[in-house]
Amino acid sequence: FLEIDGLYKSFGQTDVLKGIDLVVEEGDFLVLVGPSGCGKSTLLNTIAGLESVTKGEIRIAGERVNELKPSERDIAMVFQSYALYPNMSVAKNLAFGLEMRGVPKDERDRAIQEVAEMLQIEKLLNRRPGQLSGGQRQRVAMGRALVRKPQVFLFDEPLSNLDAKLRVDMRMEIKRLHATLGTTIVYVTHDQIEAMTLASTIAILKDGVLQQFGSPEDVYNNPSNLFVADFMGSPA
Ligand code: ATP
Ligand code: MG
Repeated sequence: FLEIDGLYKSFGQTDVLKGIDLVVEEGDFLVLVGPSGCGKSTLLNTIAGLESVTKGEIRIAGERVNELKPSERDIAMVFQSYALYPNMSVAKNLAFGLEMRGVPKDERDRAIQEVAEMLQIEKLLNRRPGQLSGGQRQRVAMGRALVRKPQVFLFDEPLSNLDAKLRVDMRMEIKRLHATLGTTIVYVTHDQIEAMTLASTIAILKDGVLQQFGSPEDVYNNPSNLFVADFMGSPA
């Protein structure tokens, strides 16, 4: 459904992604793991269209999207830093993307209500992001991605700023949302437990090269090299 063919990305002389081939099936929950600086965010950013591609092709539902602007791709991204608009109410934050796309007000209001209920943020709609806790902000950030009902969801370490308890709650919430909506998800995390809990497929990236790709059990039990074994904490 999301297909990546021979993807290269360089910043000047620095080669960050070095020939990524990846297929994510529709409804799949792909978790992308790997050490800091290996290119995880860069890969998500190229999928979202926030970074251009140096070489290779990205397709969604069979259509090449390389040349499409971020807003023309049926993708929503949730960032580690939430990236909410500080001067807009929660309701405005949720509505903004729809407004940009020319969705009429009554339809926007309906979509906001639906998502606010789903994420239990109905009571927060009139507040500004500065008046919310970290967990509430993360819910709003997810809500803003959800209202657009994208075909593909990209998450870049969305829970890493939350405390341990909230992280576990939100992890369950994301799992539930995925089960309910059946959206295709690519999810980046540092957290092995998060990866094992959420993933239907795990991809391990090192220095811009995919090391292994498979079910969590398979990757854990049959690591293809020492790096993967070490990273996944596989038994020796
Ligand atoms: P982390 O786990 O720390 O978030 P990451 O796997 O997401 O790391 P990236 O942010 O994708 O890593 O960065 C991969 C490499 O690309 C790093 O060496 C980084 O310094 C480099 N890089 C990222 N963005 C740029 C940029 N705009 N210009 C130059 N180099 C960049
Ligand atoms: Mg990153």
